[in-house]
Amino acid sequence: MATVKLKNVTKSFGTTEVIKGVDIDIEDGEFVVFVGPSGCGKSTLLRMISGLEDITSGTIEIGGVVVNDLPPKERGIAMVFQTYGIFPHMTVRENVAFGLTINKADKQTKEAKVQEAARILQMEHLLDRRPSQLSGGQRQRVAIGRAIVRDPKVFLFDEPLSNLDAALRMDMRLEIGKLHQKLAATMIYVTHDQVEAMTLADKIVVLKDGKVMQVGAPMELYHEPANLFVAGFLGAPS
Ligand code: ADP
Ligand code: MG
Repeated sequence: MATVKLKNVTKSFGTTEVIKGVDIDIEDGEFVVFVGPSGCGKSTLLRMISGLEDITSGTIEIGGVVVNDLPPKERGIAMVFQTYGIFPHMTVRENVAFGLTINKADKQTKEAKVQEAARILQMEHLLDRRPSQLSGGQRQRVAIGRAIVRDPKVFLFDEPLSNLDAALRMDMRLEIGKLHQKLAATMIYVTHDQVEAMTLADKIVVLKDGKVMQVGAPMELYHEPANLFVAGFLGAPS
């Protein structure tokens, strides 16, 4: 686990500023959800925390260390995307172990890590299958397994459930909640789904147009939205 702090972070692509001075404080082991409409900068924020994207100004700290100049693999984070990153020609075991390739782990350590991730995600019986033999939810578990084997201090999820159907989304949402309890890791989760935000989050960060509109526990935002935008997104119907 680790704290994550963003201080006055900005990001410009060319002359267009898309992140406009964002401050966010995330505690050890907290489950924080970023919500906001398409294009508001959620993915860009995650990519900057993970190091896939440089920041234009400001600082990002993970576990008390300024990581602005650290490459992704030295940040102690793992990112879970939608299932597109899974390789069809590899077995589940190989796909999950792929998360370890950057750590140069030996074969036995790798297998032990894969077994542990498979146990946590209840997919031990699937390890020899290929992705084409899996359901959508099982594939999503493979993507999460690939992150777990790396023992990250911080998990980053970018709309991991958005291409699953509604029933499966609900199952996986519950699983991700359980995973957070089991691992006690810091998790940052991006979604535009208000149900996911309300049920998973310890704390929600509402974003609009590259700025933070409000930060608070789900019920705080629901009952005391700071403005109409937040109310429209998460608030109680008036
Ligand atoms: P979200 O994930 O909330 O939908 P993004 O972070 O993907 O939003 O995008 C925020 C804004 O930054 C959008 O206006 C998008 O068009 C722009 N943007 C994202 N990536 C790039 C890029 N590589 N080059 C130029 N503009 C980008
Ligand atoms: Mg996005």
